[in-house]
Amino acid sequence: MTEDGMTWTGDPIWLADVLRDAGLRVIEHEGWRDRGHGDFEDLRGVLCHHTAGGGPDDWRTVQYGRPGLEGPLAQLVLERDGTYRVIAAGVCWHAGSGSWPGWPTNNANYHVIGIEAVSSGDGTDWTPAQLDAYKRGCAAILCRIDRAADDCVAHREYSTEGKIDPAGIDMDEFRRDVQAFIDGEDAPMSAAEVTELKDFITAFCGPIGSDVKDIREQLCGGGQRDTGQYAGWPQLNNRTVVDALADIYARLERLER
Ligand SMILES: [Zn+2]
Repeated sequence: MTEDGMTWTGDPIWLADVLRDAGLRVIEHEGWRDRGHGDFEDLRGVLCHHTAGGGPDDWRTVQYGRPGLEGPLAQLVLERDGTYRVIAAGVCWHAGSGSWPGWPTNNANYHVIGIEAVSSGDGTDWTPAQLDAYKRGCAAILCRIDRAADDCVAHREYSTEGKIDPAGIDMDEFRRDVQAFIDGEDAPMSAAEVTELKDFITAFCGPIGSDVKDIREQLCGGGQRDTGQYAGWPQLNNRTVVDALADIYARLERLER
């Protein structure tokens, strides 16, 4: 629901502003507000696609169409660096036949915004910046039309025509992160991201734990270390390094007097 209590009706002429307000980079294509195959009815969600190209010119097909299918083919193109191109505010041809709870069967084009994310479609070439922008953009749009992450849907989930896009994206994880953005939280890290972060720290600092133990032993002595009792070093008269330094300092002070 919007602020006046009505579901958004009509074209999303706010697309560029809403994405920019979410901190995303936006390129507004000339004439986007007037581009489309007629006007939207009410807006109910976002349909996620990949372009199955992967290059810097993928947007041209989305804007101008391809033989047998007149453009625009989606309202938004998401580049590999996370930049959104705003192509159209009107209805676009991207959904095809299919269904999703709460969406009109075989008629989603008049009710959902399409995002074509630039990817070869092999499921392996998503960039972290692109995935982050994908989730943040979906969340910003869903917030604006007062919908939850349940209405952020993969084309393959909706389609009855055998679509596979967006390949390589786990939509349950995707929706969880989108909902976190809607709720104003930072998206929790996925298991893969946690592993990646741990690997980075290990590569940078060595195995976590062993070096800390080494430092503690050097300072405090190795004996009884696991009980929290520090035996000190035999060559320091069984003092720890700090106690041995303190002893030296005290002797020096006495010499100065
Ligand atoms: Zn698609």
